[in-house]
Amino acid sequence: MAAIAFLGLGNMGGPMAKNLLAAGHDLTVFDLVEAACAALAAEGASVAASAAEAAEGADVIISMLPAGKHVAGTFLGDDGLLAKISKETLILDASTIDAATAKAVGEAAAAMGIDFMDTPVSGGVAAAAAGTLAFMCGGTAEAFERARLILEGMGSPEKIFHAGPAGAGQVAKAANNMLLAVHMIGTCEALAMGEANGLDPAVLSDIMKASSGNNWSLQVYNPWPDVMEGVPSSRGYQPGFMVDLMLKDLGLACEVADSCGLNNQMGKQAMAAYSAHQSDGNGPRDFSSILEWVKSQ
Ligand code: NAD
Repeated sequence: MAAIAFLGLGNMGGPMAKNLLAAGHDLTVFDLVEAACAALAAEGASVAASAAEAAEGADVIISMLPAGKHVAGTFLGDDGLLAKISKETLILDASTIDAATAKAVGEAAAAMGIDFMDTPVSGGVAAAAAGTLAFMCGGTAEAFERARLILEGMGSPEKIFHAGPAGAGQVAKAANNMLLAVHMIGTCEALAMGEANGLDPAVLSDIMKASSGNNWSLQVYNPWPDVMEGVPSSRGYQPGFMVDLMLKDLGLACEVADSCGLNNQMGKQAMAAYSAHQSDGNGPRDFSSILEWVKSQ
């Protein structure tokens, strides 16, 4: 079992840290919000007064922070953790951030002989609590073998992937969520078109699931209210996965696409659609509520 410093105990990091404690690891936690630290202390974690204090003597540092600037601020610069920790420490950044920052932190760590992996997750708050997250990892093969043992305490072993070198985990996450946004909107368009022409959305869903339009949104996340039990569309679009977070991820995906000169028209159209939907006050609602935007056009 490892001594782990866990930084960032929000909606995702809190339950992830809890699962690591349950797996028998020794955790020292830090968050800017005291109540978040207190909740983990109640589960048996030690609380540090700073990220540097948490990282002292840790075998592994895991960060689960909002954005690239928080990750860069934590690890880079004279005051950053890279300058303070031992070379044996393994760093796993599970935050969803821009691939450029992940690559920069990975390269800075490599230059100092420290193993860093970007390990963004898929699965959301429910999978974080259940310990069934998917991890897509960027870094060296050696770092991945070290990381796997720790990540299995928070995710499903069959969903832990080595995507490639530093930054590749973030690119994989951005690619997946861009595709998710596009097929969710396409699914909404198909269902709305069918319903406007007298079809039952449940019957049309079954037809498309058995045909070439089959996709994840139809299989497990049907956006039409009351076609499927237990999904956000059947509880007034309570998240789930918020429109605000989908827009964040689409922004990161479009940055990657632009950086390699790709004409990702579908991803950009999806971003424009989600942006308009957010402007109508839907940011905190589930991303499948984009059905309402489709029907209102
Ligand atoms: P959150 O806002 O609930 O939690 C972030 C936590 O980080 C907060 O508790 C905040 O106080 C803390 N924090 C900020 N700066 C810090 C610093 N410098 N040092 C220590 N702690 C600091 O966010 P979340 O929903 O837990 O998401 C975390 C990351 O996971 C984000 O990058 C998000 O995009 C990604 N993600 C979220 C979901 C989801 O469904 N919520 C799903 C997949 C990925």
